[in-house]
Amino acid sequence: MSSNEHPSRGLLLMIVAPSGVGKTSLTRRLIADHPDLHLSISATTRLPRPGEHEGRDYHFVSRDAFKGMMARDEFLETAEVYGNFYGSPRPPIMGALARGDSVAFDIDYRGAVHIREQAAADSVMVYILPPSLGEMKRRLYARSQDSVEVIQERLARAKDEVALWRTFDYVIMNDDFDRAYAELAHIFHAERLRSSRNQWIEPMVASLLEEDI
Ligand code: 5GP
Repeated sequence: MSSNEHPSRGLLLMIVAPSGVGKTSLTRRLIADHPDLHLSISATTRLPRPGEHEGRDYHFVSRDAFKGMMARDEFLETAEVYGNFYGSPRPPIMGALARGDSVAFDIDYRGAVHIREQAAADSVMVYILPPSLGEMKRRLYARSQDSVEVIQERLARAKDEVALWRTFDYVIMNDDFDRAYAELAHIFHAERLRSSRNQWIEPMVASLLEEDI
């Protein structure tokens, strides 16, 4: 008997960080390296930024379309961030878990907590720290995607969020992308090996106990 013959339960991996800390790059590399891990593509009412694509970065929808999805209970959670609505569509997440696959979320703190409240046993929360808020500010200005007001709001929010580090299962500092990525991958691998997620263990142990010795 091998672990491949018995499915393991997938996990919901919430990766949270202030903007400009490299969360998106870390998450996308983890997805690219693990075919059994899928990114939850959120729906949002905000406009696409240059270089963003429908269906890859977000599902860009109108406010009316978003409200319709909410009314049909199609989101696992929703949030309003900087005046725009965001939501994690429920069907692809449930489909992945049903197949034994895992889902990574690139969402904000409140969204992650909301998902954990609904699926505590399946949830793993990781926080990515910037090496400094000054460095984060520099990266936000360098990518020049946001107005000065939005950047100031993101920095203020980062301070509030960082103080909540104890509510996360893991904290990684992204001062070196490769090291931070290695740590994230270790977390994913170890969490997949958790005994509570591995349904092959019970029959395996039962057959061990039946062996004549
Ligand atoms: P941005 O507009 O910069 O892409 O995202 C703004 C914030 O909204 C980020 O913290 C991002 O992680 C968060 N976010 C994106 N999608 C979702 C979602 O589906 N739910 C929640 N709660 N937050 C989201």
